[in-house]
Amino acid sequence: MSGLSAAYALAASHNLTNYTIIEAQPYLGGRLHSVPFGSNPSAAGAPYIIEAGANWVHGLANNATGAVNPVWELVQAFGLRTTRSADGVPEAFSRKGRVDIGRAWEDWRAAWDRFLTLGRERQRRGLGDMTARAGLRIAGWEPGDYIRRSVEFWNFDMESQQSPDESSWFEIANNHYYTYHGFSDEEHLVHDPRGYVTVATGPYFSLPKEKQGTLVLGRPVTELRYSPEGVAARLADGGVVTADYAICTFSVGVLQSKAVTFHPALPRWKSDAIDGFSMSTYTKIFLQFSARFWPQSEYQLHASPRRGFYTQWQSLDAPGVLEGSNILFTTLTDEESVRVEGLSDAEVREEVLEVLRGMYGPENVSDVTAFYFHRWNSNPYTRGSYSNWPASYLPASQKNLRAALSARLLFAGEATSYEYLGFLQGAHLEGRKAAESIAHCLREGGARGCLGQDWFEDILAGQGTKQQWQRRELQD
Ligand SMILES: Cc1cc2nc3c(=O)[nH]c(=O)nc-3n(C[C@H](O)[C@H](O)[C@H](O)COP(=O)(O)OP(=O)(O)OC[C@H]3O[C@@H](n4cnc5c(N)ncnc54)[C@H](O)[C@@H]3O)c2cc1C
Repeated sequence: MSGLSAAYALAASHNLTNYTIIEAQPYLGGRLHSVPFGSNPSAAGAPYIIEAGANWVHGLANNATGAVNPVWELVQAFGLRTTRSADGVPEAFSRKGRVDIGRAWEDWRAAWDRFLTLGRERQRRGLGDMTARAGLRIAGWEPGDYIRRSVEFWNFDMESQQSPDESSWFEIANNHYYTYHGFSDEEHLVHDPRGYVTVATGPYFSLPKEKQGTLVLGRPVTELRYSPEGVAARLADGGVVTADYAICTFSVGVLQSKAVTFHPALPRWKSDAIDGFSMSTYTKIFLQFSARFWPQSEYQLHASPRRGFYTQWQSLDAPGVLEGSNILFTTLTDEESVRVEGLSDAEVREEVLEVLRGMYGPENVSDVTAFYFHRWNSNPYTRGSYSNWPASYLPASQKNLRAALSARLLFAGEATSYEYLGFLQGAHLEGRKAAESIAHCLREGGARGCLGQDWFEDILAGQGTKQQWQRRELQD
């Protein structure tokens, strides 16, 4: 998303067309990945298009401020089909049938509101960050049993992909605030036969051919050399592409994997910023059945004693979505995602069916006619799904994650966005911003500071203030 947004901004807003897009995979879109799946009986058995990567527009428009999510603008500009996702209590099942999660859900909602308010209030007062787990506890949430742990997983991990124990309280609250208050609290599921990837590829391919630069597909970069004079990218096949400026949009997972080497080696302020961040995995496992046996509602929750074990189920055969498709998907995150990536498709399929037999009764589960999931963590060009902010990471470090090297090699992507980390709007806006910086530098002849970025040589530990000593009462 970031790279194509940058290309579009360079060409459409600045008439800068002498650029090259280098993509390792044989297709564009990266973590926007629309794939054919199963068969559609009402289209002579042609496949449906499903989204293995990003699927929702999170946050649409704020009528009070006029702020509109730029991804929502793109979805509307291309007329992509969407349906608003339900946000109420999902129907819930354990391995022995229906369970009641109403009370746990109500308690979560109340604690979550307090978590968000307290998180923002504490930042205003200058207090230090803690884990989201600590924040939830302070807000009154206790995940005392497996029903409550499932409700917590559904509402927390299904967004952050990591548990509250691994996430920052303050930055989770901020991230939520910028998208769900800044735009709106609505979420729209995209289910268009052209694929959600259209929001990235559509604007680029709408440029006249002579403004589309050079597109290099299926050729991974293995080395990036940077200096105040420019950047040289060496490709796996030995080719070299040189440029005055370059934007690196690899995910944090790819940067952490060290698959691309930098010359000179990354300075410590940069490598710490990369290694200190978190990237996790979100895995959607799709199944098409010969007949639908699950409820008509969009969502179903599976409450398991094992946290995050096939907790969320989503029907694409829901009203207004791919009705009549008999397609269902379930989502795993983090450790569970990595675990299933190590299994064969047949093993995962059997495990998934066993869960469904428990939820709905073995006699009701119909035949599987199609099965698919993408291994985001093993994919060397993603190494996970999107980033997450760990509690120990300071905003100053994220500035370093984004900062250019030698004022020539820029970094952009969802992870460099402070406000919209993880989301498509973050990737889109960061790509555009990087393009604006380069356009500015080219106009200014590369003048010092033209990129408009700052960074920190050292990230200092937060220091306590108003030190007080506990006085020991003297006996005599
Ligand atoms: C399963 C999943 C679900 C998601 N759900 C949502 C959602 O519902 N809503 C939402 O807003 N966001 C969602 N996201 C996040 C969203 O997809 C990302 O934030 C966004 O697509 C990231 O865009 P990017 O440009 O930063 O990175 P990428 O899309 O990763 O682009 C980087 C590109 O660099 C390429 N690359 C990597 N290494 C090399 C190399 N060595 N040489 C050359 N090229 C290389 C990659 O192939 C890739 O195309 C989801 C992501 C996943 C994976």
